[in-house]
Amino acid sequence: MHSVWSDGEGTVAEMAEAAAERGYEYIAITDHSKGLKIAGGIDEPELRKQGREIVGVNSTLRKRGEKLRVLRSVEVNLSPGGEVDMERDALAELDIVLGCFHSSLRKTEDQTERYIAALRNPAIQILGHPRGRIYNYRMGLTANWSRVFDMAADLDKAVEIDGYPDRQDLSPDLLELARKSGCRISLGTDSHGPSQLRFMAFSAASALAAKIPGSRIVNCMTRDELQSWVRAVRESSVL
Ligand SMILES: [Zn+2]
Repeated sequence: MHSVWSDGEGTVAEMAEAAAERGYEYIAITDHSKGLKIAGGIDEPELRKQGREIVGVNSTLRKRGEKLRVLRSVEVNLSPGGEVDMERDALAELDIVLGCFHSSLRKTEDQTERYIAALRNPAIQILGHPRGRIYNYRMGLTANWSRVFDMAADLDKAVEIDGYPDRQDLSPDLLELARKSGCRISLGTDSHGPSQLRFMAFSAASALAAKIPGSRIVNCMTRDELQSWVRAVRESSVL
C-alpha cells in the first residue's frame, strides 16, 4: 500500500505526519469543492493556496529524508448530470481528481446514466463513494452496475471503496461485479482528521474479500506509476 486519500479537516502537515507514520509513499488531500458549502467546500483560489501549502510541506518532508509526498487533489462535486463545479484549468493542475455525487441521492429510479456521464467527464479519474449510501441514513442509488464498471474499465478510470465505517461503499456484492469488469479500484478513507486514516483497513478488507488483484488497485501503484496513469487517462479523455 502506497497511499491514502483524505478529505482533511486536519492541516496538510498533520495529515502528512500521520501518513508518514503509516509508511505511505503518498497521500492526496481531497477537500470538498465549492458546490458543497455546507461541508466547507473550497473554491479555485483556496485550492491554489492549499497547493502552496503542500509545496511547503513537501519541501519539509524532503529535507527530513521522508519518502512521503503530499499530492494535490480535490473531491469535486458532481451534479446529477455528471458536471463538475470547478474550473477545468484548476482541476488540470492537480495530481489526481476524485469526483462525487452529493445531491439527488434518494432517487429510486435507475441512475445508470448519471454514472456514465460522470465517468465520461474528462476532469475526473476516480468516482468516489459511488452509491452515496450512508448506514442507517440513506440507502444509496441504484444503477446497472455492470454497465457502470464496464464503462470505468473502458476509460481506464477507478471506482472507490470508501472505508469510512458509515459508508463502506462500494459494498462487497458490487465489488464482485467490479472485479469481473476489470476496472480500477481506489481505496479511500474519507478521513476528516489524522486519526481516521486507520479506516484504510476497512477499504483494504473489502478489496481482499472481493479478491480484487493488486494490479487493479490504484493505491498499490508507486507515485510515479500513479502520475503516469493520471497523465494517460487525461490524454485519452474525450473533451
Ligand atoms: Zn463526499
